[in-house]
Amino acid sequence: MIADLQHLEKNALAELEKADSEDSILAVRTKYLGRKGLLTGLLRNISSVPAEERRSFGKRCNEVKELLEKNIEEALLRRTEDQKAGMLAGQQIDVTLPGRGIRAGSVHPVVQIRREICDIFAAFGFSVVEGPEVELDYYNFEALNIPKDHPARDMQDTFYIEENMVLRTHTSPVQVRIMEKVKPPVRILSPGRVYRPDSDVSHTPMFHQVEGLLVDRGVSFGDLKGILTAFLRKIFGEDTILRFRPSFFPFTEPSAEVDIRCVMCGGKGCRVCGQSGWLEILGSGMVDPAVFQNVGYDSERYTGFAFGMGLERMAMLKYGISDIRLLFENDIRFLKQF
Ligand SMILES: [Zn+2]
Repeated sequence: MIADLQHLEKNALAELEKADSEDSILAVRTKYLGRKGLLTGLLRNISSVPAEERRSFGKRCNEVKELLEKNIEEALLRRTEDQKAGMLAGQQIDVTLPGRGIRAGSVHPVVQIRREICDIFAAFGFSVVEGPEVELDYYNFEALNIPKDHPARDMQDTFYIEENMVLRTHTSPVQVRIMEKVKPPVRILSPGRVYRPDSDVSHTPMFHQVEGLLVDRGVSFGDLKGILTAFLRKIFGEDTILRFRPSFFPFTEPSAEVDIRCVMCGGKGCRVCGQSGWLEILGSGMVDPAVFQNVGYDSERYTGFAFGMGLERMAMLKYGISDIRLLFENDIRFLKQF
């Protein structure tokens, strides 16, 4: 029995030495000191030891038990210390390093140009209004003097929701909705998303427009020229040269396209201006009396002008962006340049 005890002590200490995890240390404890453990078993059989040796055997058993308990506690403690040290070594905290900044977002170029345009017209006394993107055919076309069989519908074919409901092709329906509710004088600016089924380097199926409308007594084409000239010079610089070119829109008469001297080449001719030296920038004109009639304005008493432009095109010219699709790819490397 004494030999068994010595053998047990030796094995237990060797196993504890090898135990490299908390679980394996606890397994050694269970194996030798547990209720059904080996040392516990020896003590239970103490009656089989000759009477004169029982006392010293019992004492020896207790010594082994105390030794094992002490070594197990120490092994567990070492294990915890090792873990802490390992975690610290792994993290390698250098408290002298500078903090990591939180990257701030930036305002999208289309939003930037919209805000800039709204600010300029706010200074001219215009208020910003908005309207629905899903629009009745009546407001998108008919009230703007574009009946069902009008050729201008082909230029602006759109996405139909139902027979008489479309995704608006321009922000002009907002002007009609406002004129139905408000008597002149009117000075409004309506920015927003519009939809047309085009997609190439200069067209996307969804884009942004901003339109303006001014109605009052005695408004002339001279007022239109004055306001738009002042506006474009604020956007593109005081020395911007403008050109008003006769054009056609169903809802204005007379109508004019407004060009600016090419901002890329200064008028010499380049790829951006198609070698013409001019850039088409917006459409404008005096509101057609038929539109006033549709909303119940007295066209003998009031005159007005309207204008509209694409925000993507304005942003592209102002910030020198070559492909409209870049504006909608959400590539952070592109967007953070603005
Ligand atoms: Zn050019």
